[in-house]
Amino acid sequence: MSSNKTVVLGAGISGISAAYHLGLKGFDTTIYEKDNDWGGLCGNFTINGFRFDKAVHLSFAKSEYVQELFNKSTEINRHKPEAYNYYRGSWLKHPAQNNLAPLDVEEKVKIISDFIKNDGVEHTITNYESWLRAQYGDYFAENFPMAYTRKYWTVDAAKLSTTWCGARMYQPNIEEVLRGSYTTETPNTYYANEMRYPKYGGYRSFLNSMEEKCTIELNKKAIFIDPEEQYVEFEDGTKEKYDHLVSSLPIPYIIKSLKNVPTEVEVAAEKLFTSSVAIVSLGFNKPDLAEYLWYYIYDEEFLPARCYSPSIKSADNVPDGCSSVQFEIYFSREKALSLEGDDLINHVISKGIAMNLFKEEDIVVKDVRILPYGNVVFYEGMEADRKVVDDYLDTLNIYRVGRFGKWEYLWTDQALLTGRDLEIEKNS
Ligand SMILES: Cc1cc2nc3c(=O)[nH]c(=O)nc-3n(C[C@H](O)[C@H](O)[C@H](O)COP(=O)(O)OP(=O)(O)OC[C@H]3O[C@@H](n4cnc5c(N)ncnc54)[C@H](O)[C@@H]3O)c2cc1C
Repeated sequence: MSSNKTVVLGAGISGISAAYHLGLKGFDTTIYEKDNDWGGLCGNFTINGFRFDKAVHLSFAKSEYVQELFNKSTEINRHKPEAYNYYRGSWLKHPAQNNLAPLDVEEKVKIISDFIKNDGVEHTITNYESWLRAQYGDYFAENFPMAYTRKYWTVDAAKLSTTWCGARMYQPNIEEVLRGSYTTETPNTYYANEMRYPKYGGYRSFLNSMEEKCTIELNKKAIFIDPEEQYVEFEDGTKEKYDHLVSSLPIPYIIKSLKNVPTEVEVAAEKLFTSSVAIVSLGFNKPDLAEYLWYYIYDEEFLPARCYSPSIKSADNVPDGCSSVQFEIYFSREKALSLEGDDLINHVISKGIAMNLFKEEDIVVKDVRILPYGNVVFYEGMEADRKVVDDYLDTLNIYRVGRFGKWEYLWTDQALLTGRDLEIEKNS
């Protein structure tokens, strides 16, 4: 008798989507997840009634299919994408390049004269730094996105390729730059017109309608894969046979879980890396201490690159009369985390107080934790290394989904779609 027993590794949004959609097609799927709860990066944690997602997490999915799945799962809060930028004591609307009004005259003159000098000049684009200089002129490029790149991508812009940026970076014309330098009454040019978030239960509630249809085994860390004998071995010593294997695990980890891997594949996999994220979460005993849904921080002496407010996303994330924020600090093998644990919390608190964001006595919850896998880093040459790994995993019939299976800069909706769009031939 033939079988279509499918092992899915990882219960983040892509693994859940893969299991759900394969299930609809008649595959017999079970998800194995190393943690004691499902959701992956879409998951959350609660401390004394304060719920925190694992980093910002808002949905701006364009796909109607994804929106429908999310709508079926939960009631939704809809927010305008009004983000801010903190730069040397000033708060600028996002994107900074066409909202320069709050800056002092000297800064504006430097930025705008570089924009104008740049107009019509032909540039040779070799990496992200030359792309930024071409788009924005030298002064703005150096002080805004290049500084932010070191904080968010953990490497210099000169080391990054440009394959990932596309429409994510707004490219204004000189009229927009000038208008935004005189007035704060500027149109929103963010790449999404609405940010959606579940009314209840944190971001992962968007996954409810899929998760309900899935079988998930928790506390199952995959440590070894035998593609010939078609089984996965877990840390607890158990083994699971499969007819089809789908993985949302980071591809360098998959390579380490195999035996007899060709050296060139091992070498390529070794070069792939992601950033990690330290998230510092603060809960306040007052309702209105979080002013912005989210904002970016350019000053490099303040370690976080970004901050957002769980309580603005949904009042359900905090006890009555309270508010909350979470700061994101990125690090990687290219950039060490310079402070850890309580030292990192204290750094964030003292800078936050200096920025007049809150007072020490307002804080009733403080927490720091690490997300080991954050953003895939697109160093120059990454795509070639990834192809070596991909081609090899294809020969072993290990199907990959999600941000770390596809090794791409995917948002949740895109990660979900990699699970829906999997094409596996069924055994007859
Ligand atoms: C800082 C940050 C902010 C983000 N903000 C947004 C946002 O605002 N909006 C948005 O749409 N997207 C956002 N994203 C992107 C989004 O988080 C991802 O696209 C999506 O959650 C990836 O889901 P995934 O299933 O591919 O991976 P994951 O969520 O990482 O799932 C993989 C799962 O595999 C499990 N696992 C790992 N190793 C093993 C093992 N050996 N055995 C078994 N299980 C294992 C993990 O525990 C995890 O549950 C953000 C990402 C980051 C890092």
